[in-house]
Amino acid sequence: MRGTFHVHGGGPARRGATCGMRPWSATRCAERAKRLLDGEGFLYLGRNYRLLIVDESKTVVALDGTRLTMSRELAAQPSRARQELLRWYRQRGREWSHGRSQPWAARLGVSEVQVVVRDLGHRWGSYHPGPGVEPATGRVNLNWTTFQLPPYLIDYVVAHELAHAMIPHHGREFWRLLGQAMPDCEDRKTQLDDLGRALWMGDLIE
Ligand SMILES: [Zn+2]
Repeated sequence: MRGTFHVHGGGPARRGATCGMRPWSATRCAERAKRLLDGEGFLYLGRNYRLLIVDESKTVVALDGTRLTMSRELAAQPSRARQELLRWYRQRGREWSHGRSQPWAARLGVSEVQVVVRDLGHRWGSYHPGPGVEPATGRVNLNWTTFQLPPYLIDYVVAHELAHAMIPHHGREFWRLLGQAMPDCEDRKTQLDDLGRALWMGDLIE
């Protein structure tokens, strides 16, 4: 729907929204803070990668087989390291999402959208209609945190946001539409609610 701006999950004001994108419990963030030490685990596409601190100063953050590598120099600067880790997730997420939304857009009868990966705080994603005359290209924003999830749950977030191109609210028609494109969406939503609570929000222990 043109002229509307849909963001869900949202801050405390939208906490009651009956959306699959339930915000995480902020009170548990400290438990999920990570240390930049060898062996610390980082999730990417549902797989756990252990951190390996390396001496080469050129390595910022990289995936090297089964390990996530980071230079010792960067690991000694947590605020910069956080920026670089989030940058890594955003870039990886952007690459992974490229072309991934199209099949879901086709199933939902939505024109293809632009996908942007950024920091959305406690939301999984949001949908923004394109400006001007329809069918303008809309935009789906995905949170970098989403890319810690397994692909089939990222697909759920993508399809959910794309369905908002047709129906901005979470009424019965919305779930009917999403269910037509993704028959097991209820199951994925439940899994997302469960897994989402355990994800890393970007907090580092200094
Ligand atoms: Zn929604």
